[in-house]
Amino acid sequence: MPDSYVQLVLLLKRAHVLGTVSGLLGWDEQVFLPADSADLRAEQLALLAELDHEASAHPEIGRLLTELEQPAIQGGLDAAAQVVVRAARRDYDRVTKLPAAFVAEKARLCSAAYHAWADARTRSDFAAYAPFLEQHLALTRREATYLGWGERPYDYAIDQHDPGMDAARIGALFAELKQGLLPLVQQIAASPVRANPALLRGFPLAQQEVFLREVTAGLGFNYRRGRIDVSLHPFCSGSGEDIRMTTRFDPDSPLDSLFGSIHETGHGLYEQGLPLEHQGTPLGENAGMAVHESQSRLWENQVARGRAFWRHFEPRFRALFPGPLAGVSSEELYLAVNAVEPTLIRVESDEIHYNLHILLRFDIERRLFSGELAVADLPAAWNSLSQELLGLTPANDREGVLQDVHWSGGAFGYFPSYCLGNMMAAQLWTQVRSEHPALEEDFARGDFSRLLGWLRTRIHAQGRRLDARALVREVTGTELSPQPLLAYLRERYLPLYAK
Ligand code: ZN
Repeated sequence: MPDSYVQLVLLLKRAHVLGTVSGLLGWDEQVFLPADSADLRAEQLALLAELDHEASAHPEIGRLLTELEQPAIQGGLDAAAQVVVRAARRDYDRVTKLPAAFVAEKARLCSAAYHAWADARTRSDFAAYAPFLEQHLALTRREATYLGWGERPYDYAIDQHDPGMDAARIGALFAELKQGLLPLVQQIAASPVRANPALLRGFPLAQQEVFLREVTAGLGFNYRRGRIDVSLHPFCSGSGEDIRMTTRFDPDSPLDSLFGSIHETGHGLYEQGLPLEHQGTPLGENAGMAVHESQSRLWENQVARGRAFWRHFEPRFRALFPGPLAGVSSEELYLAVNAVEPTLIRVESDEIHYNLHILLRFDIERRLFSGELAVADLPAAWNSLSQELLGLTPANDREGVLQDVHWSGGAFGYFPSYCLGNMMAAQLWTQVRSEHPALEEDFARGDFSRLLGWLRTRIHAQGRRLDARALVREVTGTELSPQPLLAYLRERYLPLYAK
């Protein structure tokens, strides 16, 4: 390998390590930081952001990339090194093509808009938040221009989270999904069968923690290279050798905590499975948000909402909670695990309606960027789409357009990843079961290693070698499609509800 490549990797790793320090401080801020210590933490994070930017935008990285991109040299690199050079170029352009004044302006806006959003949400007052959204849209357009996407700002926003995706492709996938989803939702709504999650009350928190640790360790999460703690909003951070997950507990919603933790475990398993020997280079990084969500959702939904999973874990669940589960039959428990009920709030949604929440947000974002929809008209557009897709109209903006934090951070184009991840999860699930037809018999014995091993080789070990679409094509031999998701949802839910 040429010396310039070795030098490049050293500089990339240095920037990566700095990033992990920021990540750790950010995790601590949400998990352990004492209430009156926030000012020092803000200074620490600001300083690290500056150092991180210096390291990522180091002119030497640019010089080495230019050298390595010369055809005579590039042709001599092996396939892995070519991936690193290509991805490092993309990252380097992102951090160096934005003027420092712009970056500072965006950071200020993110902070101000977050507080404006939180405040507007409390008072359910969209008008107070609207000017911040206008500014964010304008900044995203400018950012797209700096990076050469001037005519396609929404595609730029999408590409940031999911390289290789764009609004036209997503629009076609979502239209096909909607066509299959709405009849399924209607069929379930017409069913006399109703889940009753309210049956599950009074689950002591200490035992909940014991159970979720047993489950997540059983799925394969390595607690010697990660941990789980409590935070207000669950998340998973860190990568490779040190994964930090969080959850929250409620005695009357044990399944929320359990499935939230399994979801974060799916993210954690992906990060733990990225090749350690490539840590700090693009080959040791995840392949984007849709792929990440495919991993969290596959464990949360395809695996942990299935009969085989519960065949193994139900006896232990009952042993830990004999009182609260005394009057609950196995079938009632399984139905509560697979409750389907439209809700106005995305994060409270079941896995079927969840997709409709995303279709709504994608439609709105696309129209905001095309100019068809003005920010002032957002609440009305949201409410009418909500009625059309979910059959529910928000009583106020708090349970409508103000429910999500994403836009306050300028994160447009992020929502579609959740639904693309659902599609990809189902497609991977179809594939792994076709290769291992007895996979669920493993689960019923509490053995998840064959699935994890398959994901390790096919997905995790690939790092950023392929984008989501190319990865799906390589692993399943077919293009990303909503049909496996629709087939999986019918297979899981119709036997329960279409009675
Ligand atoms: Zn997630």
